[in-house]
Amino acid sequence: MTRHAVDVAIIGGGLIGAWTAYFLAKRNQRVALIEKGVVGAQSSGTNFGNLRLQGRFPGQYPLSLRSQALWEDIATLIGERCEFEQTGHLYLAFDEKEHEKLEAYAAVSESHGLAIEHLGPADLRRRWPWLGDGVVGATYSARDATANPRLVTPAVARAAKALGVTVVENCRVTEVARTGDAFALRTDTGVAIDAGHVVNAAGAWAVAIAEQFGESAPLFPAGPPQFVTEPFPYLIEPSIQTIDGSVIMRQIPRGNVILAGYPRSAADPVANRAPVPPVKTLAAMRALAKVAPVLASCHVIRVWSGIEGYLPDMIPVIGPSRTTPGLFHAFGFCGHGFQIGPGVGLCLSEMILDGATPTPLEPFSIARFDKPVEADEKFRREFDSVQPAAPLQQPR
Ligand SMILES: Cc1cc2nc3c(=O)[nH]c(=O)nc-3n(C[C@H](O)[C@H](O)[C@H](O)COP(=O)(O)OP(=O)(O)OC[C@H]3O[C@@H](n4cnc5c(N)ncnc54)[C@H](O)[C@@H]3O)c2cc1C
Repeated sequence: MTRHAVDVAIIGGGLIGAWTAYFLAKRNQRVALIEKGVVGAQSSGTNFGNLRLQGRFPGQYPLSLRSQALWEDIATLIGERCEFEQTGHLYLAFDEKEHEKLEAYAAVSESHGLAIEHLGPADLRRRWPWLGDGVVGATYSARDATANPRLVTPAVARAAKALGVTVVENCRVTEVARTGDAFALRTDTGVAIDAGHVVNAAGAWAVAIAEQFGESAPLFPAGPPQFVTEPFPYLIEPSIQTIDGSVIMRQIPRGNVILAGYPRSAADPVANRAPVPPVKTLAAMRALAKVAPVLASCHVIRVWSGIEGYLPDMIPVIGPSRTTPGLFHAFGFCGHGFQIGPGVGLCLSEMILDGATPTPLEPFSIARFDKPVEADEKFRREFDSVQPAAPLQQPR
């Protein structure tokens, strides 16, 4: 049996776990990052890649802005840029009601110091002449960015490893027990880990860990469908989103257009499957043609989704356990965890080593689930099903 003794054991080698390991190792902690599959293969590696600051939950701005500063410094921090680009993000409204909502989002962003351009149809035609008709107003944030999710988490884990982190892949944590002042972790490969602190960064699987300590949250697995088209001459620089969520798109310099759209579909964390029903491809391409008619005839060459953990109020759990000193939770990122990932890792390292973080995280306490939590308005609009995903039929 292999045995590791560390200061901090992190369960889950997604973006959150990898950044937490990195920041702890920078402060000379002995860290084990344990991943049931391979690092960055789940939500963190399958997402759309948006690092959007506009339109976030108001209480998340301090964390988001702190995280964006880390993204802006990614090459210095980990030695790789991971296709991070400050592409800007353009939010589109197609009627007056949507426009009011967009302006309300912008007011919140501006109150946190984000520079927002308010654009009308004539500005849009001048700057992005390929946009379709019908947009009544838009907001643009130049600081919003994108990066390549397939590259980022493995790169952060490599940087953490170079700082001394023990990365254990293909190893599922099956049991975590409190032993005196410390924790004893058991796994399905026989690896045993003794740790002073534990971080539960197990994504859509995190409640199974929390429940071992008498805590829970109404987490459910789902994911937005994603599509990528054949390459097209490079034309579209900003990341673009309609405020009703029917189109989220960006073009990468290689020419392919990456496309996503609500509503999200249920995913299956047991079978490890996030199916995209074929009708969603047609719906997404129709919606895309409205926003960018120039792309109406391009071919979709790949379809996928991912297994993301959602909570009914559409904000994550980040912070200490209420039942167990030394245990920290960070899960349920509700489709927004890529942008805040570096910031969450930094804050967790501060909570563990300094006993507190300067970033306000009160809204994200697991304690809010002591009583029933109101479903966010988005919850009903953005999911077409919270039922278990359809099982994969085996061909006869
Ligand atoms: C299709 C899609 C598009 C998205 N688009 C965006 C976007 O554009 N912008 C944005 O900000 N966010 C986006 N997100 C959300 C973002 O990807 C996630 O919030 C973020 O990656 C969560 O990171 P994580 O580390 O918590 O989870 P994960 O990446 O899921 O990592 C958790 C890890 O824990 C491991 N694990 C679980 N249980 C155990 C165990 N018992 N033992 C060991 N390991 C375990 C899992 O295998 C997994 O690798 C999107 C998500 C999806 C699915």
